[in-house]
Amino acid sequence: MKTYKIACIPGDGIGKEVIPAGQEVLQALAGGGAGFDFQFTSFGWGGDWYRAHGTMMPDDGLEQIRGMDAILFGSAGDPHIPDHITLWGLRLKICQGFDQYANVRPTRILPGIDAPLKRCGPADLDWVIVRENSEGEYAGVGGRAHQGHPIEVATDVSILTRAGVERIMRFAFRLAQSRPRKLLTVVTKSNAQRHGMVMWDEIALAVSKEFPDVRWDKELVDACTARMVNRPASLDTLVATNLHADILSDLAAALAGSLGIAPTGNVDPERRYPSMFEPIHGSAFDIMGKGLANPVGTFWSCVMLLEHLGEKEAAARLMQAIEEITADPKLHTGDLGGKAKTTEVTAAVIARLKNR
Ligand code: ATP
Repeated sequence: MKTYKIACIPGDGIGKEVIPAGQEVLQALAGGGAGFDFQFTSFGWGGDWYRAHGTMMPDDGLEQIRGMDAILFGSAGDPHIPDHITLWGLRLKICQGFDQYANVRPTRILPGIDAPLKRCGPADLDWVIVRENSEGEYAGVGGRAHQGHPIEVATDVSILTRAGVERIMRFAFRLAQSRPRKLLTVVTKSNAQRHGMVMWDEIALAVSKEFPDVRWDKELVDACTARMVNRPASLDTLVATNLHADILSDLAAALAGSLGIAPTGNVDPERRYPSMFEPIHGSAFDIMGKGLANPVGTFWSCVMLLEHLGEKEAAARLMQAIEEITADPKLHTGDLGGKAKTTEVTAAVIARLKNR
């Protein structure tokens, strides 16, 4: 039997509640007839680690998880630590250290979820946003000079490389090709950003020639927000830069009903390093420790993790169980207007997996 080594990094806030729930659900799928098992190792990195050691993770942290098959990540964020430290010190360190250059965010309106777009049925919103995850404004290039003086200057330089853009375009075209509609929207801003985004457009056109069966179009990022609201069914797979996709994917999550549901994968398509799967929500300190966190975003992230491992059947079983529980309003947590607790939702998913 194949044993997958999974690194669990709950991080901060409700990450400490939803990641153990995800682990329980994954364990319920393993063993026996499944043909695979899991070996979980938990790492207590994040805000508490920072308070004790002065860093968000140990210096040799990447080495400790390099040999894993995948990473299940909760969230990094702490009201008492600046956001740029929690973000750059853990999540981005892993994404960049393991060159997880494709961030993949599926968005759908799951059964039973009251989404804000009244004219939009579940079938009209089925997107995957591909976010370039290694460069752009998040490359870390820039600096500050004359600090504290009136002439202070600060820059964040957006880095786009030909190799970086080519690999994310190829990934996005391939993903679009694998989906039934074979439709890709390349999000751009080449009217105003006259250098990097013009190269982005040129490379999109060049890579499109390798995928003659994929229909594709270009959309300015500002117009794309309106299109997501007004014509959601005209979109399927989208590819955008790090910053543009960061914003679009939060809009997508809100349009699908709740931040608490949406998953994401930080993927190294070449599989040189472990890929990392996580709910898109943050640490939500306002509800932490009360058992109120919606674990569905983590469960859906577990579906993506299973698909990445090649366990398609287990992934489909888990997705079906998730859709059955979202369809039942008694199993909705507070973010969805319900009263269910994290433990009740988790137990309900596990019960459905066991009954199958
Ligand atoms: P961070 O600073 O780590 O990004 P945050 O608390 O500012 O975290 P989020 O956690 O992304 O931001 O979410 C904002 C709010 O949405 C939370 O304060 C919480 O009330 C709600 N929320 C987010 N995720 C969930 C969830 N899984 N279950 C229930 N409510 C959630």
